[in-house]
Amino acid sequence: MDANKYYRNIPKVDSIMENEKLKELLDITSRELVLDYARNATEELRMFINDNPNNEEEINAEIKNIINKISLQVHKLLTYNMKKVVNGTGTILHTNLGRAPISKEAAERAKNIVTGYSNLEFDLELGKRGSRYSHFEKIISRITGAEAAIAVNNNAAAVLLILSSLAKDKEIIVSRGELVEIGGSFRIPDVMKQSGGILVEVGTTNKTHLHDYEEKITSQTAALLKVHTSNYKIVGFTEGVSIEELSDLGKKYNIPVIEDIGSGVLADLSNYGLTYEPTVQNSINAGVDIICFSGDKLLGGPQAGIIAGKKQYIDKIKKHPLNRALRIDKFTAAVLESVFHDYIDEEKAIKNIPVLKMINMNIEDIKISAEKLSEKLKDMSEFLDICTEECLSQIGGGALPLERMKSYAVSIKPKTMSCARFERELRYSETPIIGRVVNDTFYIDLRTVLEGEDQIIYDEIKNLFK
Ligand SMILES: *Cc1c(COP(=O)(O)O)cnc(C)c1O
Repeated sequence: MDANKYYRNIPKVDSIMENEKLKELLDITSRELVLDYARNATEELRMFINDNPNNEEEINAEIKNIINKISLQVHKLLTYNMKKVVNGTGTILHTNLGRAPISKEAAERAKNIVTGYSNLEFDLELGKRGSRYSHFEKIISRITGAEAAIAVNNNAAAVLLILSSLAKDKEIIVSRGELVEIGGSFRIPDVMKQSGGILVEVGTTNKTHLHDYEEKITSQTAALLKVHTSNYKIVGFTEGVSIEELSDLGKKYNIPVIEDIGSGVLADLSNYGLTYEPTVQNSINAGVDIICFSGDKLLGGPQAGIIAGKKQYIDKIKKHPLNRALRIDKFTAAVLESVFHDYIDEEKAIKNIPVLKMINMNIEDIKISAEKLSEKLKDMSEFLDICTEECLSQIGGGALPLERMKSYAVSIKPKTMSCARFERELRYSETPIIGRVVNDTFYIDLRTVLEGEDQIIYDEIKNLFK
């Protein structure tokens, strides 16, 4: 077949640009951009003809569709890709959905600060250069009892910075049961290697005793490290060394004890129906020298890695060149200050911090919300089977992996389309609704549906059946 015949049918770029539909695009973007897409589209068409010279039908369809294709591509580029979604999964710290949501108040304060100039690194009292950590260092000390604190980009960065500052070319003793991998690419042995520290493993996977650490202490030992296993639990015949015991051992040999506690728990979660999780305060009380934790796990703040502990070590960490590369920006500093402010009074923290609020929700209130949403959705019962059902929410984000909280969900079985398609359509909607599909049923767990989002869920589902 002579492909030339088709090449002649490819519209010229000039004439494409005269098309009314594309001319309309010039109201929202530059001619240059549209032209670029028009050139690409004709080039792609040429290649398509080259690759499929005998497929007349499809070639004609592609030619006919060229304007639409360009318009769609331009629109796609001009539409923001990152957007708010409704989390109906019941997983409070959903790693794929941005982990901890920030309260509107904290975001509002940060907005005010980042849209103008601020005293990020300016000491207003002395009228000279200040520290970006000063905005929350005192509050962290007040809440946790630590002498000093800083924050970096995330907890992985915190561990890297601590080890690089204190243990380069020296030995760090860790229990074999704590050599964990967190979220894909964070592995304790790899981070240790990256920091220049030398890993000394002690004990076994299930049991490590205090004397295991003690026997490995040499003049080369720079630190004893304890890592919260976060996303997994060994049960049965197990034994570990408490942070008290390890801290005492560190003191005996004058070696700093470091703890990566993972999820920065500052409130005793057993007061809110969960299993007791060691708090940061508990470790500081026990005498740990340096502790680090995530900002956006159970702490309920922005992505950050908080490092707190004895001033002599924090000072050393602050001065390490890597700290400059890992430092937080003004947005994070502002939100961190807000979140720690809330923790000054635990009652306020439970009320203001979305993650804690979701953990502490009253089961009867969740049930009422689920019933309310079910009732509302029933005006679409022509298309949907709707029920309110008991379900289980989880913390997620690699924290409390075995913990499940009783909750309520709206269960939806579409009648006119498959559940897979229903799930997909909701994922594609203006404000995507992310739920859970189990046995061809779509579940929306009301624990993680935030205030006002029930209306969004209703509107988006309604849109599917217009
Ligand atoms: C989650 C976690 C990390 C990584 O923290 P990020 O803030 O995600 O970088 C490191 N150590 C432990 C023990 C964790 O649980």
